Amino acid sequence: MVVELKCPQCKTLCQWEDNRWRPFCSERCRLIDLGSWIDEEYRVAGQKPMEMNSDEMEN
Ligand SMILES: [Zn+2]
Repeated sequence: MVVELKCPQCKTLCQWEDNRWRPFCSERCRLIDLGSWIDEEYRVAGQKPMEMNSDEMEN
């Protein structure tokens, strides 16, 4: 019996057994997913408030 899984990235049905990229169908989808969350983390981390210090700029 072949166990199939649906890749959460591209929704393709692929084999579960001997799939080193599970729950994804391939390394590509795994990297896409990983990349999107890293990108999200980065964006959140990069949301530092831009504090313009006008006093210093007037000098
Ligand atoms: Zn996929």
